[in-house]
Amino acid sequence: MTSLLITGIGELVTNAREAGDGSELGIVHDAAMVVERNRVAWVGEAARSPAADTSYDVGGRAVIPGFVDSHSHLVFAGDRSQEFAARMTGTPYSAGGVRTTVAATRAATDEQLAANLARHVAEMRRQGTTTVEIKSGYGLTVADEARSLAIAEQATRETTFLGAHVVPPEFADDPDGYVDLVTGPMLGACAPHAKWIDVFCERGAFDADQARTVLTAGMAAGLGGRLHANQLGHGPGVQLACEMSLIAVDHCTYLSDEDVSALAESGTTATLLPGVEFSTRSAYPDARRLLDAGCNVALASDCNPGSSYTSSMPLCIALAVREMGMSPSQALYAATKGGADALRRDEIGHFRPGAAADLVVLDAPSYVHLAYRPGVPLVSEVLVGGIG
Ligand SMILES: [Zn+2]
Repeated sequence: MTSLLITGIGELVTNAREAGDGSELGIVHDAAMVVERNRVAWVGEAARSPAADTSYDVGGRAVIPGFVDSHSHLVFAGDRSQEFAARMTGTPYSAGGVRTTVAATRAATDEQLAANLARHVAEMRRQGTTTVEIKSGYGLTVADEARSLAIAEQATRETTFLGAHVVPPEFADDPDGYVDLVTGPMLGACAPHAKWIDVFCERGAFDADQARTVLTAGMAAGLGGRLHANQLGHGPGVQLACEMSLIAVDHCTYLSDEDVSALAESGTTATLLPGVEFSTRSAYPDARRLLDAGCNVALASDCNPGSSYTSSMPLCIALAVREMGMSPSQALYAATKGGADALRRDEIGHFRPGAAADLVVLDAPSYVHLAYRPGVPLVSEVLVGGIG
Protein backbone atom coordinates (compact mmCIF):
# COMPACT_ATOMS: atom_id res chain seq x y z
CA MET A 1 0.00 0.00 0.00
CA THR A 2 1.36 3.38 -1.05
CA SER A 3 0.37 6.61 0.62
CA LEU A 4 0.64 10.04 -0.98
CA LEU A 5 1.11 13.31 0.91
CA ILE A 6 -0.21 16.33 -0.98
CA THR A 7 1.33 19.34 0.67
CA GLY A 8 1.94 23.03 0.06
CA ILE A 9 -1.83 23.64 -0.23
CA GLY A 10 -2.28 27.37 0.31
CA GLU A 11 -6.03 27.04 0.82
CA LEU A 12 -7.83 23.71 1.19
CA VAL A 13 -11.63 23.58 0.91
CA THR A 14 -12.78 20.42 2.74
CA ASN A 15 -16.56 21.04 2.86
CA ALA A 16 -16.25 19.60 6.37
CA ARG A 17 -16.99 22.25 8.96
CA GLU A 18 -15.24 20.40 11.78
CA ALA A 19 -12.08 19.86 9.73
CA GLY A 20 -11.45 23.52 9.03
CA ASP A 21 -12.21 27.05 10.13
CA GLY A 22 -15.77 26.32 11.23
CA SER A 23 -17.32 27.67 8.04
CA GLU A 24 -19.47 25.57 5.72
CA LEU A 25 -16.47 25.16 3.38
CA GLY A 26 -14.24 23.96 6.24
CA ILE A 27 -11.21 25.87 4.98
CA VAL A 28 -7.69 24.99 6.14
CA HIS A 29 -4.78 27.27 5.23
CA ASP A 30 -1.23 25.96 4.69
CA ALA A 31 -2.76 22.52 4.49
CA ALA A 32 -1.89 18.99 3.51
CA MET A 33 -3.78 15.82 2.66
CA VAL A 34 -2.80 12.16 2.82
CA VAL A 35 -4.31 9.82 0.23
CA GLU A 36 -4.36 6.03 0.64
CA ARG A 37 -6.14 3.54 -1.62
CA ASN A 38 -7.75 6.41 -3.58
CA ARG A 39 -9.32 7.75 -0.39
CA VAL A 40 -8.65 10.68 1.89
CA ALA A 41 -6.80 9.32 4.92
CA TRP A 42 -5.97 12.60 6.66
CA VAL A 43 -6.40 16.37 6.22
CA GLY A 44 -5.05 19.19 8.33
CA GLU A 45 -2.32 21.78 8.68
CA ALA A 46 0.81 20.87 6.75
CA ALA A 47 2.96 21.48 9.83
CA ARG A 48 1.20 18.55 11.51
CA SER A 49 1.05 16.16 8.59
CA PRO A 50 2.00 12.52 9.11
CA ALA A 51 4.67 10.79 7.05
CA ALA A 52 3.76 9.16 3.73
CA ASP A 53 5.53 7.06 1.10
CA THR A 54 5.56 9.80 -1.51
CA SER A 55 4.76 13.48 -1.52
CA TYR A 56 3.63 16.14 -3.95
CA ASP A 57 3.92 19.88 -3.30
CA VAL A 58 1.29 22.02 -5.05
CA GLY A 59 3.25 25.19 -4.36
CA GLY A 60 0.75 27.26 -2.41
CA ARG A 61 -2.18 26.82 -4.78
CA ALA A 62 -5.79 26.27 -3.67
CA VAL A 63 -7.32 22.77 -3.65
CA ILE A 64 -11.07 22.08 -3.77
CA PRO A 65 -13.18 18.92 -4.06
CA GLY A 66 -13.87 17.94 -7.68
CA PHE A 67 -17.10 19.35 -9.07
CA VAL A 68 -20.15 17.09 -8.95
CA ASP A 69 -22.26 17.95 -12.00
CA SER A 70 -25.60 16.36 -11.15
CA HIS A 71 -27.45 17.23 -14.37
CA SER A 72 -26.33 16.73 -17.96
CA HIS A 73 -27.58 15.35 -21.26
CA LEU A 74 -24.50 14.02 -23.05
CA VAL A 75 -25.91 11.22 -25.21
CA PHE A 76 -26.77 13.13 -28.36
CA ALA A 77 -25.74 13.87 -31.92
CA GLY A 78 -26.10 16.94 -34.06
CA ASP A 79 -25.51 20.64 -33.75
CA ARG A 80 -27.94 23.41 -32.86
CA SER A 81 -25.69 26.42 -33.19
CA GLN A 82 -28.03 28.01 -35.75
CA GLU A 83 -30.93 27.72 -33.30
CA PHE A 84 -28.75 29.46 -30.70
CA ALA A 85 -27.87 32.21 -33.15
CA ALA A 86 -31.56 32.69 -33.99
CA ARG A 87 -32.43 32.84 -30.31
CA MET A 88 -29.83 35.51 -29.72
CA THR A 89 -31.51 37.59 -32.40
CA GLY A 90 -34.99 37.30 -30.97
CA THR A 91 -36.52 33.83 -31.43
CA PRO A 92 -37.70 32.57 -28.00
CA TYR A 93 -36.68 29.17 -26.61
CA SER A 94 -39.29 26.40 -26.46
CA ALA A 95 -39.16 22.76 -25.36
CA GLY A 96 -39.82 21.67 -28.96
CA GLY A 97 -36.17 22.19 -29.94
CA VAL A 98 -35.41 18.86 -28.26
CA ARG A 99 -36.96 17.13 -31.28
CA THR A 100 -34.17 18.41 -33.52
CA THR A 101 -31.64 16.53 -31.41
CA VAL A 102 -33.88 13.46 -31.26
CA ALA A 103 -33.79 13.14 -35.05
CA ALA A 104 -29.99 13.47 -35.16
CA THR A 105 -29.49 11.05 -32.25
CA ARG A 106 -31.68 8.35 -33.78
CA ALA A 107 -29.70 8.63 -37.02
CA ALA A 108 -26.30 8.28 -35.29
CA THR A 109 -24.40 5.03 -34.78
CA ASP A 110 -23.54 3.71 -31.32
CA GLU A 111 -19.90 4.55 -32.04
CA GLN A 112 -20.72 8.14 -32.92
CA LEU A 113 -22.78 8.60 -29.78
CA ALA A 114 -20.11 7.02 -27.58
CA ALA A 115 -17.35 9.15 -29.10
CA ASN A 116 -19.34 12.35 -28.69
CA LEU A 117 -20.11 11.47 -25.07
CA ALA A 118 -16.48 10.63 -24.30
CA ARG A 119 -15.36 13.94 -25.79
CA HIS A 120 -17.74 15.86 -23.54
CA VAL A 121 -16.83 13.90 -20.41
CA ALA A 122 -13.14 14.61 -21.09
CA GLU A 123 -13.97 18.28 -21.61
CA MET A 124 -15.73 18.30 -18.23
CA ARG A 125 -12.81 16.57 -16.55
CA ARG A 126 -10.37 19.19 -17.81
CA GLN A 127 -12.58 21.80 -16.15
CA GLY A 128 -12.62 20.03 -12.80
CA THR A 129 -15.71 17.83 -12.92
CA THR A 130 -14.95 14.45 -11.31
CA THR A 131 -18.51 13.07 -11.12
CA VAL A 132 -21.20 13.62 -13.74
CA GLU A 133 -24.81 12.51 -14.05
CA ILE A 134 -25.87 11.70 -17.61
CA LYS A 135 -29.44 11.39 -18.90
CA SER A 136 -30.97 9.68 -21.88
CA GLY A 137 -33.86 11.46 -23.54
CA TYR A 138 -32.90 12.04 -27.15
CA GLY A 139 -33.82 8.54 -28.35
CA LEU A 140 -37.48 8.28 -27.32
CA THR A 141 -37.90 4.75 -28.69
CA VAL A 142 -37.33 1.61 -26.62
CA ALA A 143 -34.17 0.73 -28.54
CA ASP A 144 -32.76 4.28 -28.70
CA GLU A 145 -33.34 5.01 -25.01
CA ALA A 146 -31.84 1.67 -23.97
CA ARG A 147 -28.73 2.16 -26.10
CA SER A 148 -28.35 5.73 -24.86
CA LEU A 149 -28.20 4.47 -21.27
CA ALA A 150 -25.93 1.56 -22.15
CA ILE A 151 -23.52 4.12 -23.64
CA ALA A 152 -23.87 6.50 -20.68
CA GLU A 153 -23.13 3.79 -18.12
CA GLN A 154 -19.72 3.28 -19.73
CA ALA A 155 -18.84 6.78 -18.47
CA THR A 156 -20.66 7.11 -15.14
CA ARG A 157 -22.68 5.21 -12.56
CA GLU A 158 -25.05 8.19 -12.36
CA THR A 159 -27.30 7.37 -15.29
CA THR A 160 -30.85 8.70 -15.63
CA PHE A 161 -33.69 7.38 -17.77
CA LEU A 162 -35.42 10.40 -19.32
CA GLY A 163 -37.75 8.74 -21.80
CA ALA A 164 -40.30 11.37 -20.70
CA HIS A 165 -38.27 14.26 -22.11
CA VAL A 166 -40.71 15.31 -24.82
CA VAL A 167 -43.45 13.45 -26.68
CA PRO A 168 -41.84 12.27 -29.94
CA PRO A 169 -43.45 13.31 -33.24
CA GLU A 170 -44.90 9.85 -33.91
CA PHE A 171 -46.98 10.13 -30.70
CA ALA A 172 -48.02 13.77 -31.25
CA ASP A 173 -51.71 12.77 -31.34
CA ASP A 174 -51.44 10.25 -28.52
CA PRO A 175 -49.30 11.56 -25.65
CA ASP A 176 -50.88 9.19 -23.14
CA GLY A 177 -49.96 6.32 -25.45
CA TYR A 178 -46.37 7.51 -25.22
CA VAL A 179 -46.56 7.59 -21.41
CA ASP A 180 -47.77 3.97 -21.58
CA LEU A 181 -44.71 3.09 -23.67
CA VAL A 182 -42.36 4.92 -21.28
CA THR A 183 -43.79 3.21 -18.21
CA GLY A 184 -44.02 -0.19 -19.90
CA PRO A 185 -41.56 -1.64 -22.42
CA MET A 186 -39.20 1.34 -22.38
CA LEU A 187 -38.82 1.29 -18.61
CA GLY A 188 -38.26 -2.46 -18.76
CA ALA A 189 -35.43 -2.06 -21.27
CA CYS A 190 -33.87 0.97 -19.58
CA ALA A 191 -34.08 0.22 -15.85
CA PRO A 192 -31.14 -2.22 -15.92
CA HIS A 193 -28.90 0.60 -17.19
CA ALA A 194 -30.23 3.41 -14.99
CA LYS A 195 -29.99 4.59 -11.39
CA TRP A 196 -32.54 7.41 -11.75
CA ILE A 197 -35.74 8.30 -13.56
CA ASP A 198 -36.57 11.85 -14.61
CA VAL A 199 -39.43 13.69 -16.35
CA PHE A 200 -39.58 17.07 -18.08
CA CYS A 201 -42.65 18.47 -16.31
CA GLU A 202 -43.39 21.62 -18.24
CA ARG A 203 -45.94 23.13 -20.59
CA GLY A 204 -45.14 21.61 -24.00
CA ALA A 205 -43.73 18.44 -22.42
CA PHE A 206 -45.49 16.44 -19.64
CA ASP A 207 -48.13 17.59 -17.15
CA ALA A 208 -48.17 16.78 -13.44
CA ASP A 209 -50.39 13.69 -13.77
CA GLN A 210 -48.21 12.23 -16.51
CA ALA A 211 -45.06 13.04 -14.54
CA ARG A 212 -46.46 11.36 -11.44
CA THR A 213 -47.36 8.26 -13.47
CA VAL A 214 -43.85 8.00 -14.95
CA LEU A 215 -42.07 8.64 -11.64
CA THR A 216 -44.26 6.15 -9.77
CA ALA A 217 -43.52 3.44 -12.33
CA GLY A 218 -39.80 4.16 -12.30
CA MET A 219 -39.55 4.20 -8.54
CA ALA A 220 -41.48 0.91 -8.38
CA ALA A 221 -38.80 -0.49 -10.72
CA GLY A 222 -36.11 0.54 -8.22
CA LEU A 223 -35.00 3.84 -9.73
CA GLY A 224 -34.61 7.08 -7.76
CA GLY A 225 -36.84 9.95 -8.83
CA ARG A 226 -35.76 13.39 -9.99
CA LEU A 227 -37.58 16.02 -12.02
CA HIS A 228 -37.13 18.90 -14.48
CA ALA A 229 -39.61 21.56 -13.38
CA ASN A 230 -40.54 25.25 -13.33
CA GLN A 231 -38.06 26.18 -16.07
CA LEU A 232 -40.24 28.05 -18.52
CA GLY A 233 -42.91 29.30 -16.11
CA HIS A 234 -44.72 28.63 -12.87
CA GLY A 235 -46.12 25.11 -12.67
CA PRO A 236 -46.90 22.12 -10.48
CA GLY A 237 -43.55 20.33 -10.82
CA VAL A 238 -41.77 21.59 -7.72
CA GLN A 239 -44.77 20.75 -5.52
CA LEU A 240 -44.95 17.29 -7.09
CA ALA A 241 -41.25 16.67 -6.45
CA CYS A 242 -41.58 17.67 -2.81
CA GLU A 243 -44.77 15.67 -2.32
CA MET A 244 -43.05 12.57 -3.74
CA SER A 245 -39.92 13.24 -1.63
CA LEU A 246 -37.70 13.20 -4.72
CA ILE A 247 -34.00 13.68 -4.13
CA ALA A 248 -33.83 16.68 -6.48
CA VAL A 249 -35.91 18.98 -8.64
CA ASP A 250 -33.97 20.80 -11.29
CA HIS A 251 -34.28 24.26 -12.91
CA CYS A 252 -36.57 25.93 -10.31
CA THR A 253 -36.42 29.17 -12.27
CA TYR A 254 -40.00 30.21 -11.44
CA LEU A 255 -40.91 29.61 -7.79
CA SER A 256 -43.89 30.72 -5.72
CA ASP A 257 -43.57 31.28 -1.99
CA GLU A 258 -45.37 27.94 -1.53
CA ASP A 259 -42.79 26.23 -3.74
CA VAL A 260 -39.94 27.62 -1.63
CA SER A 261 -41.66 26.51 1.59
CA ALA A 262 -42.26 23.03 0.19
CA LEU A 263 -38.59 22.71 -0.80
CA ALA A 264 -37.44 23.81 2.65
CA GLU A 265 -39.76 21.35 4.40
CA SER A 266 -39.19 18.35 2.14
CA GLY A 267 -35.40 18.60 1.92
CA THR A 268 -35.62 17.97 -1.84
CA THR A 269 -32.58 19.65 -3.39
CA ALA A 270 -33.29 22.52 -5.75
CA THR A 271 -30.72 22.21 -8.53
CA LEU A 272 -30.10 25.51 -10.27
CA LEU A 273 -28.81 25.51 -13.84
CA PRO A 274 -27.55 29.01 -14.65
CA GLY A 275 -26.14 27.94 -18.01
CA VAL A 276 -29.75 27.64 -19.18
CA GLU A 277 -30.73 31.17 -18.28
CA PHE A 278 -27.49 32.40 -19.83
CA SER A 279 -27.96 30.46 -23.07
CA THR A 280 -31.67 31.18 -23.46
CA ARG A 281 -31.34 34.80 -22.33
CA SER A 282 -33.90 34.24 -19.59
CA ALA A 283 -34.34 35.71 -16.13
CA TYR A 284 -32.27 33.94 -13.46
CA PRO A 285 -33.81 32.46 -10.31
CA ASP A 286 -32.99 34.08 -6.97
CA ALA A 287 -30.78 31.56 -5.21
CA ARG A 288 -30.57 33.69 -2.09
CA ARG A 289 -34.31 33.31 -1.59
CA LEU A 290 -33.84 29.52 -1.45
CA LEU A 291 -30.77 29.64 0.76
CA ASP A 292 -32.35 32.12 3.17
CA ALA A 293 -35.33 29.74 3.50
CA GLY A 294 -32.99 26.88 4.40
CA CYS A 295 -33.38 24.89 1.17
CA ASN A 296 -30.73 22.50 -0.12
CA VAL A 297 -29.28 23.93 -3.31
CA ALA A 298 -27.07 22.38 -5.99
CA LEU A 299 -25.50 23.88 -9.10
CA ALA A 300 -25.14 21.89 -12.31
CA SER A 301 -24.36 22.56 -15.97
CA ASP A 302 -27.39 20.95 -17.70
CA CYS A 303 -24.90 20.47 -20.54
CA ASN A 304 -27.02 19.78 -23.64
CA PRO A 305 -26.92 20.94 -27.25
CA GLY A 306 -30.06 23.08 -27.06
CA SER A 307 -30.58 25.19 -23.97
CA SER A 308 -27.17 25.11 -22.24
CA TYR A 309 -24.20 23.95 -24.25
CA THR A 310 -21.59 24.56 -21.60
CA SER A 311 -19.75 21.84 -19.70
CA SER A 312 -18.08 24.36 -17.39
CA MET A 313 -18.87 24.25 -13.68
CA PRO A 314 -16.58 27.26 -13.09
CA LEU A 315 -18.80 29.25 -15.47
CA CYS A 316 -21.89 28.07 -13.55
CA ILE A 317 -20.28 29.24 -10.30
CA ALA A 318 -19.46 32.64 -11.76
CA LEU A 319 -23.01 33.03 -13.09
CA ALA A 320 -24.56 31.91 -9.79
CA VAL A 321 -22.55 34.53 -7.95
CA ARG A 322 -23.05 37.33 -10.45
CA GLU A 323 -26.65 36.65 -11.46
CA MET A 324 -28.33 34.54 -8.77
CA GLY A 325 -27.14 36.25 -5.61
CA MET A 326 -25.00 33.42 -4.25
CA SER A 327 -21.83 34.19 -2.33
CA PRO A 328 -18.67 32.59 -3.79
CA SER A 329 -18.64 30.11 -0.90
CA GLN A 330 -22.31 29.15 -1.36
CA ALA A 331 -21.75 28.62 -5.09
CA LEU A 332 -18.71 26.39 -4.58
CA TYR A 333 -20.52 24.33 -1.94
CA ALA A 334 -23.55 23.92 -4.25
CA ALA A 335 -21.28 22.80 -7.13
CA THR A 336 -19.53 20.15 -5.01
CA LYS A 337 -21.29 18.91 -1.85
CA GLY A 338 -24.66 20.14 -3.12
CA GLY A 339 -24.28 18.05 -6.27
CA ALA A 340 -23.19 15.03 -4.25
CA ASP A 341 -26.28 15.34 -2.05
CA ALA A 342 -28.44 15.61 -5.17
CA LEU A 343 -27.05 12.23 -6.26
CA ARG A 344 -27.28 10.76 -2.76
CA ARG A 345 -23.52 10.19 -2.67
CA ASP A 346 -21.89 10.41 0.76
CA GLU A 347 -18.30 9.76 -0.30
CA ILE A 348 -17.77 12.59 -2.79
CA GLY A 349 -17.93 16.39 -2.66
CA HIS A 350 -15.95 16.69 0.59
CA PHE A 351 -12.65 15.65 2.16
CA ARG A 352 -13.58 13.94 5.39
CA PRO A 353 -11.40 10.88 6.03
CA GLY A 354 -12.73 8.02 3.89
CA ALA A 355 -13.99 10.29 1.11
CA ALA A 356 -12.88 9.79 -2.49
CA ALA A 357 -9.65 11.68 -3.19
CA ASP A 358 -11.23 13.52 -6.11
CA LEU A 359 -9.60 16.91 -6.08
CA VAL A 360 -8.92 19.94 -8.19
CA VAL A 361 -5.81 22.08 -7.93
CA LEU A 362 -6.57 25.66 -8.92
CA ASP A 363 -4.03 27.95 -10.50
CA ALA A 364 -5.08 30.51 -7.89
CA PRO A 365 -4.53 31.22 -4.19
CA SER A 366 -8.25 30.92 -3.34
CA TYR A 367 -11.45 29.29 -4.59
CA VAL A 368 -12.94 32.81 -4.75
CA HIS A 369 -11.06 33.24 -8.02
CA LEU A 370 -13.56 30.87 -9.68
CA ALA A 371 -16.11 33.70 -9.59
CA TYR A 372 -13.64 36.60 -9.45
CA ARG A 373 -11.90 35.55 -12.69
CA PRO A 374 -14.74 34.32 -14.93
CA GLY A 375 -13.78 32.57 -18.14
CA VAL A 376 -10.18 31.99 -17.05
CA PRO A 377 -8.91 28.37 -17.12
CA LEU A 378 -7.96 28.14 -13.44
CA VAL A 379 -8.26 24.35 -13.17
CA SER A 380 -4.65 23.28 -13.43
CA GLU A 381 -4.77 19.67 -12.21
CA VAL A 382 -7.53 17.16 -11.61
CA LEU A 383 -6.87 14.07 -9.49
CA VAL A 384 -9.45 11.30 -9.28
CA GLY A 385 -8.79 8.90 -6.43
CA GLY A 386 -5.56 10.80 -5.89
CA ILE A 387 -4.38 10.00 -9.41
CA GLY A 388 -3.88 12.64 -12.05
ZN1 LIG B 1 -31.95 19.01 -18.29
